[in-house]
Amino acid sequence: MKSGTIEEGNRTFLCFEREQQLIFKGYYDLRARDNEWAMYSRLGPHKWLPVIYGKGEMGGDGGIFFKNEGESLTLEEWQSEDVMAFAYHRLRDLHSWNIHHHDVSPQNIVRRRDGSLVLIDFEMAVDSSDCDLGEQCPDLEMMDWIKERVPVSASELESRGVGVGEGISRALGWGIGLVGVLLPYLFYSFSAAIMPTFLF
Ligand SMILES: [Zn+2]
Repeated sequence: MKSGTIEEGNRTFLCFEREQQLIFKGYYDLRARDNEWAMYSRLGPHKWLPVIYGKGEMGGDGGIFFKNEGESLTLEEWQSEDVMAFAYHRLRDLHSWNIHHHDVSPQNIVRRRDGSLVLIDFEMAVDSSDCDLGEQCPDLEMMDWIKERVPVSASELESRGVGVGEGISRALGWGIGLVGVLLPYLFYSFSAAIMPTFLF
């Protein structure tokens, strides 16, 4: 791999394209890739989700191309009220759509340059019918933990933590099940200049 930098985790690795605009997230277990892909497909575009360009392969490992939305939060940032309210409301949204994230942490929330927040890393996410943890569901525990610390019921919190970076997914304008999921991801705001340096 000549270009970009690589970060390795236990289940996945990340490659950053030279200009740092594109991320290839590789999965050592393809089922994790397919699971994450399926979750994003179910959710469709939201201002608080990363932009996805498509599936791909690198060095024999399957992965997903994401827009690099920004830096993961620090522990200190995580403790701010807007971030906790963001996490609470996103979990609430996900659960209302029968999706459990199961891995919400400072590392899995990134902040865009405009200050808006993005929830990432759905490789551990499950359909609610596949969560048999009951009250021990980590999402519910997280929501309880947040509720004890910040007022989350007020509707004004809804607007916090989510800034103006919403045009991205709005503009995407695709519907799940319309043309499948691959094409819309692939062609939205795709920069041809980025890909060649990334792949070769
Ligand atoms: Zn759960």
